[in-house]
Amino acid sequence: MSDLVRTAVSLAPLTTLKVGGTAQFYAAPRHEAELAEAVQWAHQRDCPLTILGAGSNVLIGDRGLEGLVICTRHLRGIHWHESQGQVTAAAGEPVARLALLAAERGWAGLEWAIGIPGTVGGMIAMNAGAQGGCAADCVVSVTVGDRSGHSATLTATELNFSYRSSILQNQSTLFVTQATLQLHPGGNPQAIVADTQAKLKHRHTTQPYHQPSCGSVFRNPEGHAAGRLIEQCGLKGFQIGQAQVSPLHANFIVNLGGATASDVWRVLCHVQSEVGNRWAIALHPEVKTLGVLP
Ligand SMILES: Cc1cc2nc3c(=O)[nH]c(=O)nc-3n(C[C@H](O)[C@H](O)[C@H](O)COP(=O)(O)OP(=O)(O)OC[C@H]3O[C@@H](n4cnc5c(N)ncnc54)[C@H](O)[C@@H]3O)c2cc1C
Repeated sequence: MSDLVRTAVSLAPLTTLKVGGTAQFYAAPRHEAELAEAVQWAHQRDCPLTILGAGSNVLIGDRGLEGLVICTRHLRGIHWHESQGQVTAAAGEPVARLALLAAERGWAGLEWAIGIPGTVGGMIAMNAGAQGGCAADCVVSVTVGDRSGHSATLTATELNFSYRSSILQNQSTLFVTQATLQLHPGGNPQAIVADTQAKLKHRHTTQPYHQPSCGSVFRNPEGHAAGRLIEQCGLKGFQIGQAQVSPLHANFIVNLGGATASDVWRVLCHVQSEVGNRWAIALHPEVKTLGVLP
């Protein structure tokens, strides 16, 4: 067993929902050489590979995950390209930190990302977005690796971004190692920081931001807000075990403490079924389910 790879590591604390079983094997590389070592370890054993960022958009089954889980959150590093107005950030950089650092330099373009509790890699894979902005608006290129140790640079066009989606979600063999974003330097730092903080404040008042959750559970169906459809079914506060449809924002399922993945999944399925029956609209999960769910 390599020093880098551990066995039977509990994944719940590594997710914002705080549910899920253990990883059969787990590695948290601190730099690219360790990442390459972990990927090679899985490749040599023909072992399934799961990439986890900050775990803020995943629902991991209670029976955990087979194979190797690589957590990228310790892959850090930011390089500002002053003359081009671009920034290159490692996959594990917290998006919110990057947004605040950019604002403090007077670089606009990431204000929308302030409250997103994910990593740069997760932001790209999910095409995360909020309050009128999304990753696709600013990605120039992304360096990806694959399980056989190859790496390549993909342009934004090649990532085929669409609403909360990119090719990385269907290409489970590719993972982001770093991304270059185009921002807009030369602004007034105080004004950009103030705008960024106003957006964060808006989140704090409209979302159950300090309770364990995975953010919005469902994608917004064309022409509708998922939260509104759920609320109009009277589902705010609906609870199974310790998983509850947030009374504050109906598109959030919160863990009241000690919820299981099974509790969360049952609430999710109930919401889907009620909205389907009432509105004849299919809600599709935005959250990524990993492992076995009931
Ligand atoms: C309170 C709260 C608020 C949120 N608000 C928003 C919001 O406003 N807008 C929004 O879009 N999302 C929001 N989210 C969801 C989540 O933060 C984003 O989807 C985020 O981009 C996920 O990043 P992550 O690092 O946590 O990814 P994870 O949850 O760890 O992973 C999500 C998916 O991305 C893949 N992935 C992660 N890292 C990589 C990588 N390096 N390479 C390839 N694939 C990778 C994983 O395999 C998985 O399929 C919110 C979540 C919470 C808890």
